[in-house]
Amino acid sequence: MTRVLRAQVGTEADVIAGGHVFHAVVAAVVDAHGSSEVRFNLIAELDSAPALPVTLVMCIYKFDHMEWAIEKATELGVSSVAPVIARRTEKHLALAAEKRVERWRRIAHEAAQQSRRSDVPLIHDPMALAERVRAASSATRLVLAEQERSTTLRTALEESIAAAGSEMATLEIAIGPEGGWAPEEEALFDANGWRAVSLGPRILRAETAAIAALSVVASQLE
Ligand code: SAH
Repeated sequence: MTRVLRAQVGTEADVIAGGHVFHAVVAAVVDAHGSSEVRFNLIAELDSAPALPVTLVMCIYKFDHMEWAIEKATELGVSSVAPVIARRTEKHLALAAEKRVERWRRIAHEAAQQSRRSDVPLIHDPMALAERVRAASSATRLVLAEQERSTTLRTALEESIAAAGSEMATLEIAIGPEGGWAPEEEALFDANGWRAVSLGPRILRAETAAIAALSVVASQLE
């Protein structure tokens, strides 16, 4: 704050504290022992938009793409991300995922601050896809599938919102790995009440599918 942003007494800033966003003014800058401390007066709490009630169940794929997707999903308001290991997740990525999760959490944290979110999306520990697919849930559960031709994400959402009445529909949306879903995974989704939905006739990369899906959800719920 003091070196890069040159904060001085009177500098205005938005501050996230205790899960709330405040408009604030720097009250004091204390320099001591080579480090400085900036004290704020919190002036007024700002309205911060609640997260989209969406969990992305994201098959682990190339880490640089995955990190990008987590950052963008956070900006778009995702509530949580569940990284999962699918049949076609590359083995070395599956093995390395456990050590990556802290980095993913950091990325989500920074992206949340950047986009003035008062909350930080929860990034779950990686788990096997089947475990997540079978887990009990009251959410509407949708699986993005490029082979699906009849139901679009949009129509599935409209139906789910209509069925939920005044209650806000919560959603889980699963996105496949670069190689797509294996046939037994499609059967597993089906057997556990997940509905296959399409994002249109073109095949998207997983990270593009994540961003596109969240945009469709935001346009319906916000
Ligand atoms: N098997 C594909 C690639 C999979 S794309 C291929 O032929 O190369 C990765 C994931 O993105 C898919 O598993 C799916 O979940 C999602 N996806 C990509 N395009 C989609 C579309 N048009 N509709 C719905 N989901 C899509």
